[in-house]
Amino acid sequence: MSADPNCIFCKIIEKKTPASVVHEDEHAIAFEDVNPQAPVHTLIVPKKHIPDIHSITVADRELVGHLFFVARKIAAQKGLEKNGYRMVINNGPGAGQTVLHIHLHLLSGRAFHWPPG
Ligand code: 5GP
Ligand code: ZN
Repeated sequence: MSADPNCIFCKIIEKKTPASVVHEDEHAIAFEDVNPQAPVHTLIVPKKHIPDIHSITVADRELVGHLFFVARKIAAQKGLEKNGYRMVINNGPGAGQTVLHIHLHLLSGRAFHWPPG
């Protein structure tokens, strides 16, 4: 598992930094965002340190698909299927990515607008 010692999400994965974990398996972890932007705001994170979308390799395709599988499971557990939810990936500084370790944002519990801000 290629951890980056300066990466906050790697520290959470290694249990060096606490987080409210809602799912964990061999390949991924999910925890509540420390600064929630909606009543539900969960982050789904691969255990492999992949800085951004352009760092994804052919070998990572199954792992990236797994993130959606985990998100779907959490959404079902939280009862979000009926009303819906938004999933977001911010990639790069112009899109607002602040943590350089890819993650899905799972957001729900309020109205979301389109186009996004
Ligand atoms: P980004 O801006 O990269 O798309 O998303 C990073 C997210 O990580 C932000 O929503 C931010 O609130 C969250 N975050 C940053 N540091 C921590 C932390 O130490 N713990 C948790 N649980 N979330 C964090
Ligand atoms: Zn990392």
